[in-house]
Amino acid sequence: MPDPAPPLIAEVALDCPGRDTYSYLVGDDLADVLAPGDCVRVPFGPRRERGFVLALGRQPGPPGVTLKPVLARQKGVRVPPALLRLIRWGAGYYRCNVGTFLAGAVPAAVRKGTRARAERFVCRVPDFAGELTRRQRSILAEMPLEPILIATACHRVGCAPTTIEKMIAAGALALSEKRDVREVQLETPDERHPLTAEQEAAYAAVAASLAGDPATFLLYGVTGSGKTLVYMRLVEAVIARGQQVLILLPEIGLTPQLAARFRRRFERVVVWHSGFSEGERAEQWRQVASGEVDLVIGTRSALFAPLPAPGLIVVDEEHDSSYKQDADPRYHGRDLAVVYGAQLGVPVVLGSATPSLESYDNVLRERYRVLLLRERPAGGKLPTPTVVDMRGEYTRTGRPVNVSGELLTALKTVRERGEQAIVLLNRRGWSPVVRCLACGETLQCAQCDISLTYHRGADVVRCHYCGHHELMPGSCPTCGEKTLTTRGIGTEQLAATLGEAVPGLRVLRLDADTVGTRQGHAKLLRAFASGEADCLVGTQMVAKGLDFPRVTLVGIVGADQGLNVPDFRAAERTFQLVSQVAGRAGRGKRPGRVVIQAYDVDAAAIGCAIANRVKTFYTHELALRREYGYPPAGGLARFLWRGEDNARVQTVCEEHGALLRQAGSGLTILGPSPAGMHFLQGKYRWHALIKAPSRGAIQAFLDRLMALGWLKCRSGVRLAVDVDPYAIQ
Ligand code: ADP
Ligand code: ZN
Repeated sequence: MPDPAPPLIAEVALDCPGRDTYSYLVGDDLADVLAPGDCVRVPFGPRRERGFVLALGRQPGPPGVTLKPVLARQKGVRVPPALLRLIRWGAGYYRCNVGTFLAGAVPAAVRKGTRARAERFVCRVPDFAGELTRRQRSILAEMPLEPILIATACHRVGCAPTTIEKMIAAGALALSEKRDVREVQLETPDERHPLTAEQEAAYAAVAASLAGDPATFLLYGVTGSGKTLVYMRLVEAVIARGQQVLILLPEIGLTPQLAARFRRRFERVVVWHSGFSEGERAEQWRQVASGEVDLVIGTRSALFAPLPAPGLIVVDEEHDSSYKQDADPRYHGRDLAVVYGAQLGVPVVLGSATPSLESYDNVLRERYRVLLLRERPAGGKLPTPTVVDMRGEYTRTGRPVNVSGELLTALKTVRERGEQAIVLLNRRGWSPVVRCLACGETLQCAQCDISLTYHRGADVVRCHYCGHHELMPGSCPTCGEKTLTTRGIGTEQLAATLGEAVPGLRVLRLDADTVGTRQGHAKLLRAFASGEADCLVGTQMVAKGLDFPRVTLVGIVGADQGLNVPDFRAAERTFQLVSQVAGRAGRGKRPGRVVIQAYDVDAAAIGCAIANRVKTFYTHELALRREYGYPPAGGLARFLWRGEDNARVQTVCEEHGALLRQAGSGLTILGPSPAGMHFLQGKYRWHALIKAPSRGAIQAFLDRLMALGWLKCRSGVRLAVDVDPYAIQ
């Protein structure tokens, strides 16, 4: 008798701390179908877990151990090999368990096999002429002809599912089998313009690298320079080659308008982000994996869309810090996109009007190739901003002023001419501080080192970190006096102030409080675009990617607000914000105006943004980063310990500190010390920052730490490692 063949063994990555993979036996029933990238169920201790097969091989099992079998395979879920390779790379670089990384990359609905069919969709019946109540009729008016999830419909129109059921019974709405994975449609013009010479050159450079010689490009173009048109032409070229394109955007807030522009031009497009229902996401994953989609547009997690043959990756607004994920896996979407492009051998285009210092530095080091767009093809000059020194406003009026006379006058003019304005204030709510005039105490969140923000509409005070909220107290919780007053201004108050100060000004507010849902965001933008309001007031949501030809005035209230944050990127962010917002004005035929209010008007970040002295700012800022050893002039890693018992956290992190020093001799180690935000969501936080001459040196340090056995936590304390951290407070 011949020897029996050695058993087939699968290496499976599980979302459990500890080892990267565990070995399981593959039975005959699965032997022919199982492949790396498959999602499987396996026994793990007393539980059953879902994991992904990383490798398969026939080999003798480990001696003396009886391997447990793979129980089942999830049909229709196979992470493509190239994506699996990227994820394994990312897990190594960001020091995250592979299984945890995969759990973060593949939506839960896909892993669990949620069916879209289990969810019910409704749509409006066209030409319905039956009887309805007034309320039902107003609901009907809001309902689309396209099928949407019942849950989504209820959320959008603010009614209960039973109301929808009644309307189905009345014949006004119909249940539908059809699945809807589309967004609210925004009106967009046809944009098949001939490219300008600059655009053509940028397009040609990237197009040439599609066929070989892949590179990373920085498409550095002022706002309104037509970067999107360049992307569109590239998408065409890639589709013609039978490949797919991935376009990453920073935030949900950007997607409705940009996605609509791509939809207008391309057929097989999927918008990819976490706002969809479980079933919809599973359906999208299947569509993308099966090659039915040419273009995926989405936020950072869209990088893990299972495209069979990506031919180009675009990262728009590459400087945006929301590309960095602030929970495990703590990857940076842009950086990982660059790695993915190199692994695939396809070009990566990073687009921005205000590149990150990292990308700017990579251009200087000739790692990225820069493509410049200096003109605005649709016309419109970059406006020259006016700076209002708010210290002068105070001296002039003798009282604290939130909105300068200059901005008010400009708003009046806008109103009179029937134009539109956008005013940004990067802080929501009515007032960020509630203080007692008698005892001087401010209202603080009980769970966080953060003062509570007053929201007048709901008459509540809210913690903007953990979301805790309570009714605004009638008297001071500390001393009992009825002397609580609000200090400072947020978007809610700003909107009210502007509406009162400028007669007839119709103000629309765009921030996390008014948006609510993704659909809500698109709706607000549509309302503004159609002229239902003269002025859009909002947080940095209004700064991004909006293109409204009738906007002739942009105001920034508190432009220097972000400078007082203890973060080495504070100046860079302020520079980017001011430059971005300024770029929103004057995109149409009429010239634009920008009014910037600040106290610290001499700050380089503001001065350079206003005078468009880009090079001066980057040179100045890079020199500072070199001096202090911060990225991009060096590598950075952060260790964060959290726990409910402060003394215990301190003990653990001080023990760990000794190991960090051992592994990091020759490097700069700051801490462990209490984090800038020491108390958040009921947990005490301590941290340590490791500075090294390069990213490679950080990796070498982490390898040494691994060789020393890594850092072992005790119960009650959790440790997070953040490679290339953005949040350092
Ligand atoms: P960016 O993304 O760089 O801010 P957009 O791609 O949004 O710029 O373009 C700004 C405006 O200019 C859009 O309305 C777009 O249709 C228009 N535009 C872009 N390229 C051209 C062109 N070659 N000819 C005419 N209009 C153009
Ligand atoms: Zn809180």
